[in-house]
Amino acid sequence: MSNVASAVLGTRAVENQGEAAMPKLRSELDADRQPEKGPTKHPTAENRHELLCPICGQKFYVDAVSLARASEAAKMGLDPPFRCPDCEEAESS
Ligand SMILES: [Zn+2]
Repeated sequence: MSNVASAVLGTRAVENQGEAAMPKLRSELDADRQPEKGPTKHPTAENRHELLCPICGQKFYVDAVSLARASEAAKMGLDPPFRCPDCEEAESS
């Protein structure tokens, strides 16, 4: 019993080390998935509305729902719910 448990733990430890060793590869994969949702640097079929990142000031394109949410928040004096992928990454690291 205990032999099985330690074998599983050993496998997990190796996997975690592998992920930590390749942060650049992982962010490239994430970038490939981005266009489906969230702000993009170029207009797409979904993201047709310009929005400036409130943190770094870069121009991004968002969909109508994101734009409405951001302008609602601005009207109410709240922090905008939007931030660009660069700033999101900087905040989570
Ligand atoms: Zn930003």
